Amino acid sequence: MAVTSTSARPDTPPARAPRRPRGEGQWALGHREPLNANERIKKDDDPLNVRARIETIYAHRGFASIDPQDLRGRFRWWGLYTQRKAGIDGGRTAVLEPHELEDEFFMLRVRVDGGELTLAQLRVVADISREFARDTADITDRQNIQYHWIRVEDVPEIWRRLESVGLQTTEACGDCPRVVLGSPVAGVAEAELVDPTPAVDEIVSRYVGDKRFSNLPRKFKTSISWLVDTPYEANDVAFLGVDHPEHGPGFDVWVGGGLATNPMLAKRLGVWVPLAEVPDVWAGVVGIFRDYGYRRLRNRARLKFLVADWGVEKFREVLEKEYLGRTLLDGPAPELPSRPVDHIGVHRQRDGRHYVGAAPVVGRVSGTQLAQLADLAEAHGSGRVRLTPYQKLLVLDVLPERTESLVDALRGIGLEARPSAWRRGTMACTGIEFCKLAIVETKRRGEELVARLEERLRDFDADISIHLNGCPNACARTQVADIGLKGQLVVGPGGRQVEGFQVHLGGGLGMAEGQTAGFGRKLRGLKTTADELPEYVERLARRYLASRTDGE
Ligand code: SF4
Repeated sequence: MAVTSTSARPDTPPARAPRRPRGEGQWALGHREPLNANERIKKDDDPLNVRARIETIYAHRGFASIDPQDLRGRFRWWGLYTQRKAGIDGGRTAVLEPHELEDEFFMLRVRVDGGELTLAQLRVVADISREFARDTADITDRQNIQYHWIRVEDVPEIWRRLESVGLQTTEACGDCPRVVLGSPVAGVAEAELVDPTPAVDEIVSRYVGDKRFSNLPRKFKTSISWLVDTPYEANDVAFLGVDHPEHGPGFDVWVGGGLATNPMLAKRLGVWVPLAEVPDVWAGVVGIFRDYGYRRLRNRARLKFLVADWGVEKFREVLEKEYLGRTLLDGPAPELPSRPVDHIGVHRQRDGRHYVGAAPVVGRVSGTQLAQLADLAEAHGSGRVRLTPYQKLLVLDVLPERTESLVDALRGIGLEARPSAWRRGTMACTGIEFCKLAIVETKRRGEELVARLEERLRDFDADISIHLNGCPNACARTQVADIGLKGQLVVGPGGRQVEGFQVHLGGGLGMAEGQTAGFGRKLRGLKTTADELPEYVERLARRYLASRTDGE
């Protein structure tokens, strides 16, 4: 019988039974029924299966024949996104239906794991661009090549050509293990103690396209490098080189980084892993994500939310007990440089040859340029080329006496090995030109910004990073730039809504303690219209030059 307290005030609401916490859709806790449309699509049919339908049906019957769940869902597992229809302004991005925003062409992402390209691969990438992609071939900030204007009819032939040289689009997008970031100088850098390439290759050959990992709660990003030359803290899992005083060179493991909603930097697990064990530890972390990751809400489905809720101690314990069946060795923290290394310019390799790092503007290159690059790389080096996670590229294996002729020749095709600070440090995401989520234009704005700053502040002598993003999704890492720009509509002249950016100042990755590691400050009132962006950055730069201290 219920007892009512006589002391209770009459206006006190009746005590409610404690609410049961809502499930997060974690498979390991028994939640196997999809809780949203994305989970339903993945459960109904493994997204990797869509390839057969593309090859046997859609490529023959054309765009109109594509099942909407394949088109806007499963196609991503093969690197395919529908492209934004030209002429739709950013103000309509949030109000139009997906089919109203897209045209019948695709963006196609080619994964270049570790950023490594052979001469044969580069030539095939260039030929596809010119033949099927209207000469587009952007270098992304995850070392991918991104085509636009792809027709579904051409996709099987593009796959055939890519796969003939060992490239693929498998799981280049989608809720699965994306391209593995790697050091662009893996295997050649003087300072590298262990080349992590075998671990990258093993992970890709064992697990990419493997249905054990093709249904993750969301995308899964990986970085594996000896040097601090990738944005490792922005990845779901990262392996970073460290020399253990007793066990020698191996890798320090970080988990739970990601920058879109609720940005978080990855945290150290405090373990040391030898090269041979990297793939197993990687698979254990992905397994935790698949089984314990949150699947109820898309914006809470990245690994970082689980890491934030569990803490690294519990994460390590579950990894060891449930996934590896053994204890991992404790490890020391790696040494971090004062700035991330971008490899631009001429540098010595450990075999005495050199590599030359060059900058396009905001990662924009064409197939024609890549074909010219292939000829230069063959004439000056061994033909090996690497892409960087800063939208730049390297030519490897150049004899010392050939470096200056290569620098000149690269300049002749629009790739600058001695760029201004502006060109060197500016990145831009895809933006409104092709991206359905975009609110503002980014690539062209980035090009204009670099040109204007080169004209007005040519001799600016500090390292500076400027990252332009077309929306809050932060694909070009808004929060970790010196000047991070998040696309949004702002109030322009006459009170009209116009394209603009919210500004984040002072972020950085790969920094030693005491430097500016962490996120830029998002100051509430700090916004600029896109048209005023060059003046805005110029003012910031001039103020910095006038007030910086010695050695800053
Ligand atoms: Fe598209 Fe936004 Fe990502 Fe830019 S940041 S590529 S606009 S989703």
